[in-house]
Amino acid sequence: MQLFLLWIMALLVWPHDASAWESLGHEAIADAAQEHLSPETAKSIAQILGHGATLPPHALAKASTWPDQIRDLQRHGTAASKLDEHGVKEAQAFNAAFPDNAQWHFVNLPLGSAHYPDDADLDDLLTPFTSPHDVVQMLNVCIETLETVGEVTPWTKTQALRWLIHLVGDVHQPLHVATGYYRTTHQDLPNPVLIENPHDAGRVGVLGDRGGNDLLFSDSARDNLHALWDSCLVKALAGIGACGKAPTAEDAARLVHRIIQRMKLASSFDYRSSGEHFSWAAHWATDSLKTARESKAYAFVRRNGIVRDSHMADASIRMTIDAPPTKTEYSTNHEPVVETQLTKAAVRLADLLNHLAWKP
Ligand SMILES: [Zn+2]
Repeated sequence: MQLFLLWIMALLVWPHDASAWESLGHEAIADAAQEHLSPETAKSIAQILGHGATLPPHALAKASTWPDQIRDLQRHGTAASKLDEHGVKEAQAFNAAFPDNAQWHFVNLPLGSAHYPDDADLDDLLTPFTSPHDVVQMLNVCIETLETVGEVTPWTKTQALRWLIHLVGDVHQPLHVATGYYRTTHQDLPNPVLIENPHDAGRVGVLGDRGGNDLLFSDSARDNLHALWDSCLVKALAGIGACGKAPTAEDAARLVHRIIQRMKLASSFDYRSSGEHFSWAAHWATDSLKTARESKAYAFVRRNGIVRDSHMADASIRMTIDAPPTKTEYSTNHEPVVETQLTKAAVRLADLLNHLAWKP
């Protein structure tokens, strides 16, 4: 009975903000990408991850989920952590050195944004929606770190590589790049109207829904649009019928196989990046914005808006939504989109890793 109560309590304190693609998606992207590494790249990675000269199977997948594990530790303490004693110490030191690292996983651009803004253009009206620590900028910091000769401080190359693998996944989750914005006046809150235009989204009194984390299908904060993309749609692709069910090793293997098969199709060659690799993360973010728009990720009826945490910098607006016409149909329509995004992420992660000027 006591165990049962503890289990219920653990469920109650479980993170409300789902992590992008959850472990199943991140690990599948990493496993599929690992199949496409050049021998030289595999050797450099093996060295940085502490495996000697040979990269063992599943090494990238294991590294891919570390940024979520340290965030969970920061939010929920050691009890809910999957890290061992040494891992907890490392994570605590990292969280102390980078207390804002939970912000590195995303960028909240309005849906109507044409692109992730160019670094050089300070007048771009999208620049206020970005941060030096958003998913695009941090991907570039990871690249820079891994291409630096010698030790790097205050983090390690191992940590930078784990972040790089993770963030390539995150930037391909459309709701880690695109966010809904809404006016929060008394008149607007009962039936919030989606603002897509960046000019209007930047006005005073307008708040975002944190990539769909605040768009709820029911009374439960966990039953939200962001979590549907991160978790349920990925599980459905792996052949898991019920979203609440934990994936088995067979489910995970099925998903990896599916992505690897998809990477062999001629259409997957279109996902490859070219040119200067410091520009790739911004291009991928722009692509995710387009995916959010074209897949109609935000086609919902919205009601009962409330303003959350208005005293904090990350104030947001929460509301209930109805999917058109049902959540099941929305999921069926968006499963192929998620399959494409996971495939793009795997193709591009392998490309980026093979392209880096490694300085182990
Ligand atoms: Zn993440």
